[in-house]
Amino acid sequence: MSNKISIYRFMSAGCNGCDVEIFECLVPRYKLGELNVEVVSSPEEANVLAITGGINVKGREELKASYEKIQPPKLVVAIGNCALTMEIFDGGYPMVGPPDRIVPVNLYVPGCPPRPQAIVSAIAKALDKTLSMEENYWDAPEGFRGLHEFDGEKCIGCGACAQVCSSKAIDIIDGNEKRLIKVNYGHCSFCAFCQDECPTEAIKLTKKYQMLTDNRNLTNITNEVQLISCSICGRRFMPEPQIEWAIKRVTEKVNVYEKFMDAVRRAMRICPDCRRETENIRDAKKLLLQLSTVARINRK
Ligand code: SF4
Ligand code: SF4
Repeated sequence: MSNKISIYRFMSAGCNGCDVEIFECLVPRYKLGELNVEVVSSPEEANVLAITGGINVKGREELKASYEKIQPPKLVVAIGNCALTMEIFDGGYPMVGPPDRIVPVNLYVPGCPPRPQAIVSAIAKALDKTLSMEENYWDAPEGFRGLHEFDGEKCIGCGACAQVCSSKAIDIIDGNEKRLIKVNYGHCSFCAFCQDECPTEAIKLTKKYQMLTDNRNLTNITNEVQLISCSICGRRFMPEPQIEWAIKRVTEKVNVYEKFMDAVRRAMRICPDCRRETENIRDAKKLLLQLSTVARINRK
């Protein structure tokens, strides 16, 4: 491609946080001028289209027209999560899709919004240049909420992270033997509620903010946990580590329950459907009575 990169910004439905970050990229510290990069005000002058936001009905034709007008090599960069997945605007009545449903997209810069450093890195990659990252402004500050990381040893597969995620960015998918916990960070607002809610501190938001990709299907982080089978019907229904975690918590809090834990474990290995069988209800009630009796005796 030509040595000069001329960027035309195309804004559609979003909060404009990404647009602010694009302007931040123009401050001298990032030396975009030295990389021969400029921001232009019309698509005819540009060879790169930088798109922020999802595309609505009105923006669709404008985007097509802008794409037609930009110069070769017609590089298109989708900046921010709304330009990947439409995020919170997904499902909005005027929305027609993320930009790649309208024009071909070469690079995606996930984030909500992406740090200017991530956008500058994307530009450098487009130019096939290597940036020096020695200055400390390339490090994310303390408390920055970036890409998720799972601790596979700690995750019990409980799904609390998915329940609390208001962006619906976490899917819980039960397979034949395993439960998949999938964080779609292209949908994520990086609020860290999942991290706060996780009972075992198994999911963390790291300081990693470089998430550039040319494949939107790879914008996810996953973890798997083993599901147990119902001891009666054989159906897989619950993560194995979640049962052991619950038993450990109970015995830590009320140690007189310890001698009943094998019976509790057997009861927990029965799936919700089989628990409704009369005989199993009777056994469960008997066990609960034993537990409450021993707790009462020990309180005296
Ligand atoms: S990451 Fe935490 S909250 Fe999410 S499934 Fe694993 S243990 Fe549960
Ligand atoms: S940080 Fe966690 S809870 Fe917040 S939007 Fe992202 S996945 Fe959802």
